[in-house]
Amino acid sequence: MQAMVLNALRTPLVWTELPDRHPGPGEIRVQVLACGVCRTDLHVVDGELPDPHIPIIPGHEIVGRIDALGSGVESLSLGERVGIPWLGHTCGVCRYCRMHRENLCDHPVFTGFTRDGGYATAVIADARFAFPLGEAGSDVSLAPLLCAGLIGWRSLVMAGDGQKLGLYGFGAAAHIIAQVAKFQGRSVYAFTRQGDTGTQDFARSLGASWAGGSDDLPPEQLDAAIIFAPVGALIPLALKAVRKGGRVVCAGIHMSDVPSFPYALLWEERELLSVANLTRQDGLDFLRQAPAMKIALTTTTYPLQKANEALADLRAGRFHGAAVLVP
Ligand SMILES: [Zn+2]
Ligand SMILES: [Zn+2]
Repeated sequence: MQAMVLNALRTPLVWTELPDRHPGPGEIRVQVLACGVCRTDLHVVDGELPDPHIPIIPGHEIVGRIDALGSGVESLSLGERVGIPWLGHTCGVCRYCRMHRENLCDHPVFTGFTRDGGYATAVIADARFAFPLGEAGSDVSLAPLLCAGLIGWRSLVMAGDGQKLGLYGFGAAAHIIAQVAKFQGRSVYAFTRQGDTGTQDFARSLGASWAGGSDDLPPEQLDAAIIFAPVGALIPLALKAVRKGGRVVCAGIHMSDVPSFPYALLWEERELLSVANLTRQDGLDFLRQAPAMKIALTTTTYPLQKANEALADLRAGRFHGAAVLVP
């Protein structure tokens, strides 16, 4: 197999020939067809997440086909197309696993962070954490659903069922969730970097009723806001934009420091919370409903060997929607 390997933090990934791997008990081997590029991958490369495992193959929005089954795998079959998400394994016995909050497991394994991921021609995964994808939809258009879509979905559920929804940072996740929210009959307000009229136009083209800079106040008070951009300074701005009793959800795994802000922004029962990881149930819920939502994915594809270019373009905001690597 071949892979783009992170050998040291804050260095480019290196194209590497590796011995073929074989699935252990309960595992599957998947030939990768497409792997989305997520902002979390930048946090991994930049060393912004605790306890990095190095060397590591990043990538946790994997679409592929099973070509080897480990012993005891009965729920999936050879040749089946599956999706492999960020949540790679949970312990099943800690208090969080037992209370159906496996996203908070004390001993989790994360694809592309603590176990090798999908910036590769093949990947080994725990069969219980892979989602059967069926044959509808292209590999490239399904890949971003596996994190941008799933974590976005979890964030949307956490945001509650308010009608007026703000999205701060209009990248891969927001471009999916804006369409989901529209499908649900909500109004979407998109916030981008100040002056980024290209992305604001992109948001409006996907149904946002208003788009502006993150310092702007929307024309109406929001019921809820989701912050996808890893920028702590957006928290007071979003709190300022939501109504009394409104909710602000931080969807990212990492954020820059949050500046101090007056208590009055939180007062009147506004809520601020974060979303961590996903549960398998989130994935099943979202992937079951996604086809009916007719989500139009905007993707830029890169050959697997160009993963560094894809990451650089993501960092610089050089494409709309999601980047996807194809081996
Ligand atoms: Zn656990
Ligand atoms: Zn991700």
